[in-house]
Amino acid sequence: MSRARLIPAIDVLLGLPAAGPLAERHGARAFRAALEAAVARVRAALLAGDDETDSRDAVAARILEATATALDAAARPSLRAAINATGVVIHTNLGRAPLARTALDAMAAVAAGYSTLEYDIVTGGRGSRHLHLDALLAEATGAAAGVATNNTAAGLTLALAAIAAGREVIISRGELVEIGGGFRVPDILRGSGALLREVGTTNRTRVADYAAAITDRTAAILRVHPSNFRMEGFTARPSLGELSGVARGLGVPVIEDQGSGWLGFDLFPDGTFPPEARAVLAHEPAVRESIRDGADVVAFSGDKLLGGPQAGLLVGRADLLACIRKHPLMRAVRVDKVTYAGLDATLRAFLAGRAGREVPVMRMLALSDEALETRARVLARRLDEAGVACETAAGLSTIGGGSTPGATLPTTLVRLRTSSPDALAAALRRGDPPVIARVHDGAVCLDPRTIGEAEEDALVQAVSTARGRRAVPS
Ligand SMILES: *Cc1c(COP(=O)(O)O)cnc(C)c1O
Repeated sequence: MSRARLIPAIDVLLGLPAAGPLAERHGARAFRAALEAAVARVRAALLAGDDETDSRDAVAARILEATATALDAAARPSLRAAINATGVVIHTNLGRAPLARTALDAMAAVAAGYSTLEYDIVTGGRGSRHLHLDALLAEATGAAAGVATNNTAAGLTLALAAIAAGREVIISRGELVEIGGGFRVPDILRGSGALLREVGTTNRTRVADYAAAITDRTAAILRVHPSNFRMEGFTARPSLGELSGVARGLGVPVIEDQGSGWLGFDLFPDGTFPPEARAVLAHEPAVRESIRDGADVVAFSGDKLLGGPQAGLLVGRADLLACIRKHPLMRAVRVDKVTYAGLDATLRAFLAGRAGREVPVMRMLALSDEALETRARVLARRLDEAGVACETAAGLSTIGGGSTPGATLPTTLVRLRTSSPDALAAALRRGDPPVIARVHDGAVCLDPRTIGEAEEDALVQAVSTARGRRAVPS
């Protein structure tokens, strides 16, 4: 006799006490669809003899459990919070910069209600959204004016379109680079409507090469920070000061794509960064220095070293920024009220000298060797108490995200002992929350630099669950 006859009718299942809360949470339609699918699966298992359940109540319970599991899985958003245990501080695939508490609060306050986005509270009339960041960007970078766009690629496209569409932009052959994720400088140039005029060679370009290429068709010179590769050996690249001196004499603006958005050491109290981090950051071009050295427009990211929400910031000469703001593309790439609020709070943290404590990207870079070692030991002890075999070991964190190529900082790792590190790393990724770790030297490594202290409980739980899950073959 087939056990399939033990399956209650749908109406009976719908009336069970466990059904109400599920229908309430997921909606009656989704609940019914998931219930019918679960009935079909359980029926198939019973008919195939794979399921030995032999009472009507037990079959009903099994169906509702399968329904709940399916609904929970479907309700989990594809984009969700994850724990970055890789030690890559600006991890593009993991959403780049975690935001400062003050930025989050400002963003929530503006998102929850109406705001003065484009409203002038003095005149009671229409205001300009561009004014929100103007003074802060000017103070932070020394530029006369600034504007926020959706990301650096958008900002650079906009700047080139406004300043150079239909005319030539001169760029060194050594800077026709791909930054990653489809960002190729020649494509951005073409997309903006500007014409590419290459000068120099892959490894050496001189000021004279730029100067010789300037004609009445020239609209601008573009300089691109080689943020993800390094050229060594027989190379030459003029300093920004030299280049802008010549360009200014010939009346040609210099646009710099700087990427990282490092604001410089002036905004931090002495001793904020340990020597290794200081040395790495000293290699980053600071936006303020570029402006001082004569760049007419600088494009940089809001969510790399600035540690704010995703944005591309353009700062520079007032007349060029006015022309950029008036361009029709401006509307297509402008940011929303929430981003303004987050950028405002982030810039204020830098200007008040609080960024080393408050902006997570800066806080992570400022962690001392001792602090990292202590965090690693505490994490290892907690994992040990949870039955996870591990040890601490010296290792390296990476800054990542278009900063000095390959720059690393010393850290202390927690190494999880396992015979199959790839399988454990995969189990950690599938957990809730997903934990992204690095496999190195035959072990799964957790780097405390990028793990928030508030994430530690969830991390310990996730690691012990992943180990357990792996032990049970599925
Ligand atoms: C990262 C980077 C970009 C792209 O920035 P997005 O904000 O991701 O568009 C452009 N240029 C440089 C030099 C970069 O480092």
